[in-house]
Amino acid sequence: MPKNHSSQFLTVVEASQRINASVEAISGAEQLAIRDALDRVLATDILSKINVPPHQNSAMDGYAVQSLDLPNAGETKQLKVVATSFAGQVCSQIIQVGECARIFTGAVIPAGTDTVIMQEDVQLQAGVISITGLHQAGQHVRPIGEDLKIAQVVLKAGKLLSPADIGLLASLGIAEVKVKRRLRVAFFSTGDELCPVGENLQTGQIYDSNRYTLHGVLTHLGVDIIDMGIVADKPEAIENAFLAAANCSDVIITSGGVSVGDADYVTDTLERLGTVDFWKVAVKPGKPLTFGYVEQAVFFGLPGNPVSAMVTFYQFVQPALKRMMGQTAILPIRFKVPAIMPLKKKAGRLEFQRGILEKDENEQLVVKSTGRQGSGVLSSMSQANCLIILSRECTQVEVGEQVLVEPFYGLFG
Ligand code: AMP
Ligand code: MG
Repeated sequence: MPKNHSSQFLTVVEASQRINASVEAISGAEQLAIRDALDRVLATDILSKINVPPHQNSAMDGYAVQSLDLPNAGETKQLKVVATSFAGQVCSQIIQVGECARIFTGAVIPAGTDTVIMQEDVQLQAGVISITGLHQAGQHVRPIGEDLKIAQVVLKAGKLLSPADIGLLASLGIAEVKVKRRLRVAFFSTGDELCPVGENLQTGQIYDSNRYTLHGVLTHLGVDIIDMGIVADKPEAIENAFLAAANCSDVIITSGGVSVGDADYVTDTLERLGTVDFWKVAVKPGKPLTFGYVEQAVFFGLPGNPVSAMVTFYQFVQPALKRMMGQTAILPIRFKVPAIMPLKKKAGRLEFQRGILEKDENEQLVVKSTGRQGSGVLSSMSQANCLIILSRECTQVEVGEQVLVEPFYGLFG
């Protein structure tokens, strides 16, 4: 038994807290052109050096007038069109009482005017417009800084840059930004029964699928991936793999071989090279979970069962990786929806069941189970688009009862 093996069960929250208290954001950053910064983590706050828009402009095609010239109820006002303001061109004429300017969307509001009348609301005849109906002073005028004000914090360090963020940076005229360097994640599978994809299965073997699901989830996170393949259950092979991984990565993830009773040299190697905790977490699927350090690299040992490996990754590893990447929003979204089929579980452990979120005939989101919930049934993860989170005490859910769900790939990322 490893020295720091805990016989106590940790709750999911306790295990997450221990991990999050232990990992911190990596320090490196790089300067990138904004297009290349999509899906990267902003390393510094972005302050606006200009107002957006930088000038008052028209939200409509129409006529720019003085509010003093607006008609009262029942009245008709006639104004002479004396100038035109096109988008991107300066109209230098000052508009006087009784006058107006033809104006187009996005064009600067000419001096002397403060209100825009939509072209549909006037009648034009011989260079004079007639305005009837009630209009508000200042209408259809976009103020300076309507979107962003000078010296405002526009984006905060730690934000994962979205397409809108990239556009926002462009609207400020910012061509390059500083983003966190990519996190380097090395991973390998352990288990003498594992056969690499592309080879023929021998009796007793199964294909190594964990490395492929891990590759997928890590690709979506935008980390640098170091795939170290399948490592044989031999002491030197394990030790060499850990040392090589620690040499080139910030994080090492393995799957399999962490159950109590697995060959001791795996745990011995880990304890010799770093600090490793073996926790039993009161969660299904997923126990046990291994977390620690190999030299300076953060280490996660995931269970070998394919569903357990994925669920453990989503619950414990992904938030930690996001934190290390420098992201500030690290927790997945959770919400309640009615179940449309009964659900069952045993009391004692928090359970993440695989669910399918869908809309009913009233456009209301509802959830159903994918069916069999065995930790080796990877097809349940393939069908699912959410995890249904059932509390430790819960033993059954009736049709129509609200349950907590956490969407994953295919819904909210
Ligand atoms: P372990 O955690 O090593 O005791 O493995 C638990 C179960 O998961 C066993 O049935 C293994 O054969 C299976 N397993 C372990 N690693 C993988 C893998 N990389 N891909 C698919 N199944 C695996
Ligand atoms: Mg094994």
